[in-house]
Amino acid sequence: MSTHVNGKCIIFSAPSGAGKTTIVHALLAAQLGLEFSVSACSRDPRPNEINGKDYYFLGIEGFKEKIGEGAFLEWQEVYTDNFYGTLKAEIERIWSAGHAVIFDVDVVGGLNLKRIFGDQALAVFVQPPSEEELEKRLRYRSTETEDKIQQRLRKSGQELSRAKEFDFILVNEDLQVAIEQAKNVVTSFLGR
Ligand code: 5GP
Repeated sequence: MSTHVNGKCIIFSAPSGAGKTTIVHALLAAQLGLEFSVSACSRDPRPNEINGKDYYFLGIEGFKEKIGEGAFLEWQEVYTDNFYGTLKAEIERIWSAGHAVIFDVDVVGGLNLKRIFGDQALAVFVQPPSEEELEKRLRYRSTETEDKIQQRLRKSGQELSRAKEFDFILVNEDLQVAIEQAKNVVTSFLGR
């Protein structure tokens, strides 16, 4: 990656359903100089999702082509046959525009990005108040089939055990409190 775009980044990771995406959207709306890193993925868009805004929806073939081209900084098969990845070009674009990058990635991806960026990155783990609450939220959201919900719950146990490897653990019990806390920790990191 070229050196003139050596900026900062904020990484948000969590088990599915912890509220990470909502918190990331609130941070983006707070005008802190952050720009969202739009990931590529192989799954189909959900009804409310927009290509190029939520994800670059490449399909499985398109995704594998990008892997072959070496276009990814990191990628993961987050769920069986569901690939997600961060494009190198996305980070360069955001840093060139003078913004800090904000990532919404899975736990393994988040720790990989932290390893790549070191002190340039603040890695935040969003923790649900309990596993029961996580299940409730996943069901309430009802964007996934029962099979997918089960798959996400099985994965969340492993993910929760890695929380302590992050720079900051943000407990999302009350969403408004968590958003305020997120704003504070991000602002203080960016001001350094
Ligand atoms: P969903 O299908 O619910 O949008 O996302 C599934 C999971 O993939 C989420 O935990 C999300 O954070 C993660 N994810 C999205 N983009 C990336 C990426 O570029 N890299 C990695 N490692 N995970 C990602």
